Amino acid sequence: MDPIDSPDPQSFYQYSLKGRLVMARKKTETQSKKEPAVKKTAAAAEEAPAEVKAAVKAAEPAEAAVEAAEPAEPAAPAKKKAPAAKKTAAKKAPAAKKTPAKKAAAKKSAPAEEAPAEAAAPEAPAVENSSAVEEVPTMQAIVPQPRRSVAFIGSECHPFVKTGGLGDVMYALPRVLASLNCDVRVILPRYACIPKKYQDLMVYRGEFYMDLGRTGRSYYVGIMEYVCDGVVYDFIDNEEFFSSGNPYVSLVDDIPKYCFFSKAALAALNYLDWIPDIVHCHDWQAALVPVYLRTLFQDTPVGRARSVLTIHNLRFQGIYNIPTIKYWSGLPDSVFNMGALKVGHEDANMLKGGLAYADRITTVSGTYAQEIQTSEYGETLENHLRYHSGKLRGIVNGIDYGMWNPKTDAAVAVHYDASDAIGKKRENKLALQEELGLVKDEGKFVIGLISRLTNQKGLDLVNAIVPQMMDGNTQIVVLGTGDRQYEDTFRYYEGAYSGMFSACIQYDEARAHRIYAAADALLVPSRFEPCGLTQLNAMHYGTLPIVRETGGLKDTVQPYNVFTGEGNGFTFDRYDAGLLLDAVNRAKTLYFTERERWDEVVLRDMAKDVSWENSAKQYRDLYLELTQW
Ligand code: ADP
Repeated sequence: MDPIDSPDPQSFYQYSLKGRLVMARKKTETQSKKEPAVKKTAAAAEEAPAEVKAAVKAAEPAEAAVEAAEPAEPAAPAKKKAPAAKKTAAKKAPAAKKTPAKKAAAKKSAPAEEAPAEAAAPEAPAVENSSAVEEVPTMQAIVPQPRRSVAFIGSECHPFVKTGGLGDVMYALPRVLASLNCDVRVILPRYACIPKKYQDLMVYRGEFYMDLGRTGRSYYVGIMEYVCDGVVYDFIDNEEFFSSGNPYVSLVDDIPKYCFFSKAALAALNYLDWIPDIVHCHDWQAALVPVYLRTLFQDTPVGRARSVLTIHNLRFQGIYNIPTIKYWSGLPDSVFNMGALKVGHEDANMLKGGLAYADRITTVSGTYAQEIQTSEYGETLENHLRYHSGKLRGIVNGIDYGMWNPKTDAAVAVHYDASDAIGKKRENKLALQEELGLVKDEGKFVIGLISRLTNQKGLDLVNAIVPQMMDGNTQIVVLGTGDRQYEDTFRYYEGAYSGMFSACIQYDEARAHRIYAAADALLVPSRFEPCGLTQLNAMHYGTLPIVRETGGLKDTVQPYNVFTGEGNGFTFDRYDAGLLLDAVNRAKTLYFTERERWDEVVLRDMAKDVSWENSAKQYRDLYLELTQW
């Protein structure tokens, strides 16, 4: 799925090759004046290849040389290109497609490395006090809880790169935590697809070289920083791994990429001498972080951090054959057992390893936390999760009220709040109908569907009932990209129900906002849904959700009760097209026959607290619970 706001990848790539290197060089010069210690390390790496290893020590843990066994089938490298400025090191590194035997042997002979003195753990973690970092506002005076420092490590974050809910969470949660007396640093890959306007705001913070697995090579790790609203964003720079247009390409590329990223993120914390109390990692892409923490990084400064691993979607686990993951991760044999990474006869599962090694596991709703311990939802990890259930809990997501606010939303046609929502939503409906070429009629019942178009999202149910939903008084607007079969199906319906069905096969953040503001109801009939954000966005915009009772949908949408008038939306339980149609018809009945009661639910949904406040406090309490010293 396309990230939002992405510039043309080709032109951006050109920019990234030229502009970025110039910028990096300039920043290096600036750096030398401001941060002599960092410059010294970087310069050593540039000028004396032999000393590059020394610089890597900040990143290389004591057990880096543990692994000597020869991986049988290494994956192809993500790309052949190395950062231009680092060509020397890159050239010397053997092509990763060759057999890794020699590299493994070379690595074996390397001495066990210790963290250099300058990376020693500070007494109290603190935000780096350089000119690259804005002053982080302190709330000490008004918030009595002890201060904790947290490093978020994940593969996407709005507004830099987002393909789904993970990007929203990585954006919103750190900002609220910052207001709850937490120092938060978010560590992300510096993908080439990050819009130029953000690339331009990044400030060079340093660079070092890092060994990776048994590749026998030293890899460049640049750190580019951006500070916003009390949150420090550190982007791990390496063009070899992060130059593709999309964050997720294919497992062959993604496994090496996220092994590199997980290790580089911890190495960067050591390098920056910013040792967090908590390392909070997200999904399989960062799941090796807890494993690294307790193995290769155990005896380095960051090794004292506790870890939290959040499952945003259990379906994606990062599974590949053991030799490949050993080759790229450099993790010791001891973690490739059935209690940790190993699955089946010869595969390794990165998420499973992270779950075994993390101090706490969270997922994004209480119901999903229960569901994933069953064979129906456990994606083959149910036994593993049941085994670790003592450290597993569900904390439901919220939405960012700054980003999602119909009163101030720059994307919507007409602003509104609870005082004028009923009338203004009608105006938004007319504007959306105009925009999408639908029949302009505020009396039509408009159903939105904003989703990745994948098997998870219950689209076969929708497909099965579209003809029954199209009764002449109903319009459907689909916004999404994904599997070809669903894209084509919705395109077909657009042709078949001209003026009444709109298929927007695209990723368009602004249009999503306009649909939330204009629609009467939003469909979320997911097969499984860890939390789901679209129903929260919808409710906040006075759009009633029609959802399946699973995961976070069950936890956040109370079914409308025709007798008491209570509830927030319309629900159905079993994964069945007939039950979905029934829920849609209940919604239509209320809309067309008892509009006043419908409007009451609109206002109730807008008033419902779906913010991050409550959930962020639960995360903060979890951090405190883990760090009782
Ligand atoms: P998931 O993470 O499984 O994709 P969520 O409901 O948790 O689903 O989050 C989806 C997020 O992505 C929401 O913020 C939603 O508005 C947004 N989104 C999904 N598809 C699109 C799209 N095609 N265009 C714009 N935003 C989208």
